[in-house]
Amino acid sequence: MSTEQPPAVVRRGTNLDRVGGFNDTVVLDAIRRAEQRLSRVEIAAATGLSGQAISNITRRLLDAGLVREAGRQKSTGLGKPRTLLELEPTGQYAVGVHLDPAVVTVVMLDLTGQVVARRRAETPASDDPDVLIAGIAATVEDVIAEAGAPRERVVGVGIAAPGPIDVDRGVVVDPPNLTAWHLVPLRDALRERTGLPVLLDKDVTAAASAEKWAGGPNGRGSFVFFYLGTGVGAGLVIGDEVVRGATSNVGEIGHIIVDPDGPLCYCGRRGCVGETSQPRYLVQQAAQAGVVAAGIDLDDRHAVDLAFAQLCADAAAGPGVAREIVAALAERIAKVVEDIANLLDLERVVFGGPHWDQLAPLFDESVRSALEERFLVRSVHPFVVAGTALGEDVGAVGAASLVLDHTFSPNPSVLLLGPTASAPAVAQVGSAER
Ligand SMILES: [Zn+2]
Repeated sequence: MSTEQPPAVVRRGTNLDRVGGFNDTVVLDAIRRAEQRLSRVEIAAATGLSGQAISNITRRLLDAGLVREAGRQKSTGLGKPRTLLELEPTGQYAVGVHLDPAVVTVVMLDLTGQVVARRRAETPASDDPDVLIAGIAATVEDVIAEAGAPRERVVGVGIAAPGPIDVDRGVVVDPPNLTAWHLVPLRDALRERTGLPVLLDKDVTAAASAEKWAGGPNGRGSFVFFYLGTGVGAGLVIGDEVVRGATSNVGEIGHIIVDPDGPLCYCGRRGCVGETSQPRYLVQQAAQAGVVAAGIDLDDRHAVDLAFAQLCADAAAGPGVAREIVAALAERIAKVVEDIANLLDLERVVFGGPHWDQLAPLFDESVRSALEERFLVRSVHPFVVAGTALGEDVGAVGAASLVLDHTFSPNPSVLLLGPTASAPAVAQVGSAER
């Protein structure tokens, strides 16, 4: 028999029958969080529920197709070997959409959090929100079809969008670089087009959530997810909990000033970390230094992306001006990470976002050495610099995992707004005892 102790973070159930819906999610969550398959006896120990309650709940979860039996424990010679339980991957699915001003990523996760289908497309050049929303809705249908998932098993769509957002109303307020977007009711628009429950959250919060659930050792404890995309942002996980702030707009770090003599930012000040992390700015520096062709049209996103890729390749190839430009970028970002890490006593920074793959080879080492020097409690514990384990999909995976979280949460949030606002997101679990 396993001697594994249940993880400390597992919630405890209550043995009162009338809260069966709550206990169903507690049991499902315990099975999800376990690092190996659990027997009913182990689930009882982890959740504090009685053997009879576990027996009833697991029967219900088996009937609903959310868990499955998966072999038996080796016999210890005492009694018969116990049947092990695990999540049934096909029990539920969730779609995740990551809306970045440059690229839209759509993924579908199964109940275990595995990506079973994905699509990625350049964000249309059209500024019209309706064009983009129609495109997203069509792509959502594509991934559902590609995964072959029965539609009734798709619990909803999560959207990760650039901040600031109005989470309660599902509204994207003023995303950077989508100039025609002002107070766009993205959640309701996508719900109307797909007929599925939809949740809207901030991109960096989604990314931090993805890392927490699927990032392995990177996702444990207390860390900042540093997002490098069109703009920069920070998602926070402290003590295994995603930090949201008063209005779910945590992590707006883009206007921290890292170079008082730097370029003018749209906020009216100079040298903001977001502005000085833009490929546009770095390519401009590279053009002035003769590292990339002069005369590049900085308003041509495609041309800037190509030049940025060349800058990164040159920087990786060896010492020189290209490397100095990227090293200066790393230094600016390290300054921001340092302040966040020291303020909150974090264990780790996890970098990710569309630009991370290109920057990682150089950036990783220079940020690491800069931060080792400056992390003030390094004599007590180290500060780790890591890259996301989830690659480019991290925002979309996070958006879908926020939807799946509702399946595992005893208090489904009103944020997952269904076709009718009062419809519970996960009606088939525990409804008999509600
Ligand atoms: Zn600014």
